[in-house]
Amino acid sequence: MQYKFSGKNIDCFFNADFSLIETKLQKNNTVFITDENIYAAHAGKFSGWQTIVINAGEQFKNQQTVDSVISQLIGLHADRQTFIVGVGGGVVTDLAGFVASVYMRGIKFAFAPTSILAMVDACVGGKNGVDVGVYKNLVGVINHPEFLLYDYSFLETLPDEEWVNGFAEIVKHACIKDVDMFHFLEQNSLAKFQSSPADAAMIIKKNVDIKYNIVSGDEHETGDRKLLNFGHTIGHAIENAGNLPHGHAISIGMVAACHISEEINGFSKAETNRIINLLTRYELPVAFTSDRQKTWEILQHDKKKSGSNMSFIVLDTIGKAVVKSIPLDHLYKIFNSI
Ligand code: ADP
Ligand code: ZN
Repeated sequence: MQYKFSGKNIDCFFNADFSLIETKLQKNNTVFITDENIYAAHAGKFSGWQTIVINAGEQFKNQQTVDSVISQLIGLHADRQTFIVGVGGGVVTDLAGFVASVYMRGIKFAFAPTSILAMVDACVGGKNGVDVGVYKNLVGVINHPEFLLYDYSFLETLPDEEWVNGFAEIVKHACIKDVDMFHFLEQNSLAKFQSSPADAAMIIKKNVDIKYNIVSGDEHETGDRKLLNFGHTIGHAIENAGNLPHGHAISIGMVAACHISEEINGFSKAETNRIINLLTRYELPVAFTSDRQKTWEILQHDKKKSGSNMSFIVLDTIGKAVVKSIPLDHLYKIFNSI
């Protein structure tokens, strides 16, 4: 199937076998970028392909790793005809897409996402980049891959905690856009998706569609795309202040955003409780345990701040989100009371 962004068609191969790459690309002008865990777990898939292996973990999604990958590309004599394939979670795909976008002013690239988070979120929408210190994704580009290859056999080795992290974004999509999916998630469980490839494939495809539909209408984040930041303003600050995994941090961020929605948008407490129950069902934390002052300090540096106001995503109801501009002092009061 094909997705279209700014007039560019992106082939999307769902339920594909990784070997499909052999029909798309040639070994002599392709470089895979992956991380050490994926390389170790799926060595056979990389056999015969030029592969750059980076350290695993968000702390390596930075300019230093970009420089190291670029040095290795030079060592491999990569040129404008070279094709890069990011095979990994969101860290690998964000970084690989960024490197491909700047190396020789841009070469072609594709992604084979291996984590739930990369499959439903990071790979869709064209945002690529790296972190700078505590500031997530501060440096980057919007640029789309040529194709996306979904080989669900990668999920067989995905650690349980990474399933949990990925489902935070799935719950987010349900909260902002899809009350029916919210209901469906309430009736299912992580164990069900982990043990049933067909159910996992179905929920992944559904979430790619949701993300695609939001992003394709607003690539440069002037409207609807902002809704994808639900839970992320406070979530990113929590992530940095407490060194929490992304999914955990945005789960707590979504709960905070629900309370803020109650205060300023008439969102019902009963619906907040439904969201808390769903997050708990998917083994995500819901209690705010980070250092409040530190979190607030980081929050104030958020990209979404403009002047003395913060652009913040709140819910009308489950399945419908809106953007509100909140004065920082008001936000501070609510933030301190949750
Ligand atoms: P995310 O995908 O959540 O953005 P990462 O790219 O850091 O974040 O991936 C999360 C962790 O899961 C990393 O340690 C990565 O090496 C590991 N990982 C990703 N996909 C797989 C997989 N299919 N099998 C084993 N480990 C994986
Ligand atoms: Zn996220």
